[in-house]
Amino acid sequence: MTSVSPQKPHQKARALKPTSRRPAKELCSECGLCDTYYVHYVKEACAFINQQIADLEQQTHGRSRNLDEPDDWYFGVRQDMMAARKTEPIEGAQWTGIVSSIAIEMLNRGLVEGVVCVQNTAEDRFQPMPVIARTPEDILAARVNKPTLSPNLSILEQVEQSGMKRLLVIGVGCQIQALRAVEQQLGLEKLYVLGTPCVDNVTRAGLQKFLDTTSRSPDTVVHYEFMQDFRVHFKHEDGSEETVPFFGLKTNQLKDVFAPSCMSCFDYVNSLADLVVGYMGAPFGWQWIVVRNQRGQELLDVVQDQLQTQPVMSQGDRHAAVQQSIPAYDKGVTLPMWAAKLMGVVIERIGPKGLEYARFSIDSHFTRNYLYTKRQHPEKLEAHVPDYAKRIVDQYELPPS
Ligand code: FAD
Ligand code: SF4
Repeated sequence: MTSVSPQKPHQKARALKPTSRRPAKELCSECGLCDTYYVHYVKEACAFINQQIADLEQQTHGRSRNLDEPDDWYFGVRQDMMAARKTEPIEGAQWTGIVSSIAIEMLNRGLVEGVVCVQNTAEDRFQPMPVIARTPEDILAARVNKPTLSPNLSILEQVEQSGMKRLLVIGVGCQIQALRAVEQQLGLEKLYVLGTPCVDNVTRAGLQKFLDTTSRSPDTVVHYEFMQDFRVHFKHEDGSEETVPFFGLKTNQLKDVFAPSCMSCFDYVNSLADLVVGYMGAPFGWQWIVVRNQRGQELLDVVQDQLQTQPVMSQGDRHAAVQQSIPAYDKGVTLPMWAAKLMGVVIERIGPKGLEYARFSIDSHFTRNYLYTKRQHPEKLEAHVPDYAKRIVDQYELPPS
């Protein structure tokens, strides 16, 4: 089924509010839909109950991925890709602040009346608090990742109650899949969707375990990112930076830290956003932009004069590294730190770069997630794994279940 059909469902749905049901059970990513009266549509809309990416791509972009085209498997429907960075980065943003800058321009130019984004609570910098931003200050207060599951769609009722007709939503793949499925019920005249890639998200408790296990000073971390140089970069309150090689992560202790939803997700690149802003297909220090459709181009156009850009590049061959990492992750192998650092240096020199780094990351996560889904939810495997992801996984030899 392609999304939910545009009947007269507002009234019907409203009668069913409120509920705390989570029909996806342990696979729920807390996207927020079930906190609203749109829970009525959950069985069709939830990314973990009804995988319908190809149909929603057709609805949103006018076509779905071409399965004869490997770059479509990886990067989805698109009309342009590039590397970009702000000439004047926003202080405190996750990267250079392209996402926040687009949102601010869209508001300032009157192209939208509000922006759905995620601030943090007063008590905890990593506890997400979804809001409808109506001023540039509100948007700036939402900059930087809250690297935890965030119920962005919980504000959908407020959107309708506010009477807004033109809206920008910023979000990750599972949130955007559910949003696209109910889009026609929201009563909007224009919806822009600005997505980020997303992988390995965690609950707030899981985040604490990750920080405690990985950082030298977990309580002072203000920002972290898994970067293209195969290291996790932590930024601390005092401005100092700490790096930990991927290969030195305590995989054996971290295996159960990622949310089950993220262990069974195959929408790393946010297939249904109009514009995607990440980093993994770009050289180190640059952001990666994927324009999926004309609406995405409109979003990018409002900040063109604030950006430095260059074409995407691709270098190296990921296949051997991915194949070797599959059994190592499966067995929870952790290298001693000296070996991890050495391996990090070597792989940074000769390893995949640009789009090939993005393919490396997608392959590693999709093979891991395929194994997880096959073992934990075998009854879901066939319908839940999209065809493009099956093609990606088929390139590798997987350990027995
Ligand atoms: P900023 O201007 O700092 O804005 C960040 C925006 O992210 C804010 O508008 C905020 O509303 C939104 N946001 C923050 N936390 C959340 C959340 N939990 N859920 C939804 N929206 C949120 N890119 C990659 O290329 N590869 C990855 O593996 C990858 N993993 C990510 C995992 C998570 C959980 C998140 C949230 C993002 C991830 N990204 C990834 C995207 C990347 O880290 C940057 O967010 C992106 O490049 C934008 O940077 P910026 O400086 O332009 O953002
Ligand atoms: Fe509901 Fe979203 Fe959880 Fe699915 S992922 S059960 S739609 S809150």
